[in-house]
Amino acid sequence: MRNRTILLRPAVAVLVGLSAATATFADVKVGDFGMTDDGTPVKVYTLTNSHGVVAKLIDRGATLIEWHVPDKNGQMADVVFGFKDLASYGSERNSYFGCTVGRVANRTAKGKFALNGKKYTLAVNNGPNHLHGGIKRSLDKVVWHGEPFENKSGQGVVFTYTSPDGEEGYPGNLSIKVTYTLTDDNELRIDYEATTDQATPVNLTNHTYFNLSGAGSPTILDHEVMLNADHYTPVDDTLIPTGEIAPVEGTVFDFRDFHTIGERVKELDDKPGGGYDHNFVLNSRPAEPGARGSLTLAAKVREPKGGRVLSVYTTEPGVQFYVGNFLTGAEGKNGQKYNYRSGFCLETQHYPDSINQPNFPSIVLEPGETYTHTCVYQIQAE
Ligand code: BGC
Repeated sequence: MRNRTILLRPAVAVLVGLSAATATFADVKVGDFGMTDDGTPVKVYTLTNSHGVVAKLIDRGATLIEWHVPDKNGQMADVVFGFKDLASYGSERNSYFGCTVGRVANRTAKGKFALNGKKYTLAVNNGPNHLHGGIKRSLDKVVWHGEPFENKSGQGVVFTYTSPDGEEGYPGNLSIKVTYTLTDDNELRIDYEATTDQATPVNLTNHTYFNLSGAGSPTILDHEVMLNADHYTPVDDTLIPTGEIAPVEGTVFDFRDFHTIGERVKELDDKPGGGYDHNFVLNSRPAEPGARGSLTLAAKVREPKGGRVLSVYTTEPGVQFYVGNFLTGAEGKNGQKYNYRSGFCLETQHYPDSINQPNFPSIVLEPGETYTHTCVYQIQAE
């Protein structure tokens, strides 16, 4: 199918070769990415910045499917997992690659919760628990409405979706807006907003898998990780938090200084989750170096050979650090295999099972309130 370019009438003509401060952006390219089984068309949006960094997004699941960034020698690689075709996104091979997750990301114990005296039952799709918003109509699987834009921050797409009352068992009509912006600082910024007409739990995140050597490279065990967290939430055998907020000090969860993923992960081989798959409680110290306004530095990950460095900033209180312990070699976009521990996720969010855990920050959104969440992924090379 033919690609279509939407002209966004940039305020200034595109000027090549200017510094980042004055450069403007080329038009967002919009193409066809196929049709769902029920005949809904899915579009693909290509964002480009003045350094030649390219990110691609699709309407299904408001999903990031490609992100091409340079290493320290200027060598470009696509560092996120994904597929070339829509059918693969709907297949068993897709472990939430790059998508928006919700209405409630992560695990809810036994798929049950009570709110304002009423009991709710959600799909049980992960052992005895509910995971990532359900089965058929979770936010990663529905087709969102995408509107490309260009402004002084960069190029982006606003995705909107209204999840009807009762969808996947959740109460209230939930109107959701997820805005991706690719900036000239090589950031992919994700801004989430949601409103409801009934009290309802909301915990949205993005599920991008990164391999900073290039998606499909064999391992991430050599990647060096820093997590800005003095505490984490220990889990039971089914990965539901016990309720404790435990210090990382003296444990394999202490990433306050850089450690490679491979250094201690084997100690978790026989533990629930079979490796790092835990929520870290972020230190919220906006006055510290590294903080940007209300955004806290959550994590940094360095790949030592090519020198790509991912920094993650967020307004959320937690980040799920998952190192692909459940990956089993699904074939990705260029025929590479996404093997065991060959990709990691840093999912900024509220803590797992928050709706059932009175001592965790609340995820209940009330009518009249607006849910907001910002996550910035920035990739530089050093
Ligand atoms: C969870 C993993 C799960 C994965 C699914 C992550 O957010 O923490 O346990 O297997 O999502 O792809």
